Amino acid sequence: MLPGDGIGPEVTAAGTKMLAAVAARSGHNFTFSAQLIGGAAIDATGEPLPQDTIDSCRESDAVILGAVGGPRWSDPNAATRPEQGILALRAALQVFANIRPVQIFPELADASPLKNELLEGVDLVVIRELTGGIYFGEKNRDAHSASDLCIYHDYEVERIVRFAARLAAERSGKLCSVDKANVLESSRLWRDVTVKLMADEFPDIELEHMLVDAAAMHLIRRPADFDVIVTENMFGDILTDEASMLAGSMGMLPSASLGDSGPGLYEPIHGSAPDIAGQGIANPCGMLASIAMLLRHSLKLEEEAHAVEQAIQTVICDGARTADIATGGVTPLNTEQMTDRIVAALPA
Ligand code: NAD
Repeated sequence: MLPGDGIGPEVTAAGTKMLAAVAARSGHNFTFSAQLIGGAAIDATGEPLPQDTIDSCRESDAVILGAVGGPRWSDPNAATRPEQGILALRAALQVFANIRPVQIFPELADASPLKNELLEGVDLVVIRELTGGIYFGEKNRDAHSASDLCIYHDYEVERIVRFAARLAAERSGKLCSVDKANVLESSRLWRDVTVKLMADEFPDIELEHMLVDAAAMHLIRRPADFDVIVTENMFGDILTDEASMLAGSMGMLPSASLGDSGPGLYEPIHGSAPDIAGQGIANPCGMLASIAMLLRHSLKLEEEAHAVEQAIQTVICDGARTADIATGGVTPLNTEQMTDRIVAALPA
């Protein structure tokens, strides 16, 4: 468990509570160990990802991350920043595939800034490449200029596109690859590798290419037309924040990050939300849905995963809301109350 900063510890506590409830319900025994990451780790050790944390993660079956960052550590000229902890963790665990499902609860349509009719039938998954691209390329800075290298190798594109294509085969048989091949050389490599791999290994999957600027527009113009999207690191980061608005709030969406082996990393897609940190009002649903992904992907407990998802759905359908998704004069629940409602709704 890596609670991190801001609302990270608040939503991580909700995740632990849910896992304890699942253990009691289904006769499992989960063992947790809490470790430092992000600003909390910088304060305690001077480093955003101490070696003890990496070692503990590697010894675990799965890693749960709250969020990192906050104004206290956001001096752009600081030697270390909390966000470096997350990037280093993803690299250390080699979790190259980030799965971000975007499912819509019709009951939350009013919490989304989009028109209700656009949200009908939205059920998409973004597969974001997580350990390459511009976030990991060489960085340079002098007095008057700065650069960030965006580099991709063919094997990095192959493994993430293969991962996405397998998912597409289980779903609608359609895959949309998002790039910027009209401008970026790294995107032209991405597209070439994708075309070849899909022709060689997945000839039956319908492959569409979309430029990232067009994808940003279509995601809010016709979101229901998307199914599985695969894209590089930074485009995936931006598009999934945009897509979170379809679901009504950043606080609703989960993610799982997986590699070829080793522990999976599970975290809600939101950040540390300094504007509401410490108030106990964060929406725990993204974390609880991440717990469901953990049960499914790392522990292979599909029935338990489904039970958690069903509990979230039941409580949302019953009208329970945290402040970020409360509309129409509903009195919002705090994090603990919402978590308790969802835990209590676990099917027997
Ligand atoms: P953010 O996701 O923290 O917050 C954006 C907005 O969404 C805020 O208004 C916040 O209150 C709201 N929000 C987010 N999660 C919520 C929840 N669970 N319930 C209710 N409302 C929620 O993004 P930001 O403000 O751009 O970034 C804040 C800090 O988080 C920065 O330091 C940033 O670097 C860091 N960050 C960390 C991660 C991560 O740890 N994976 C991801 C993104 C941003």
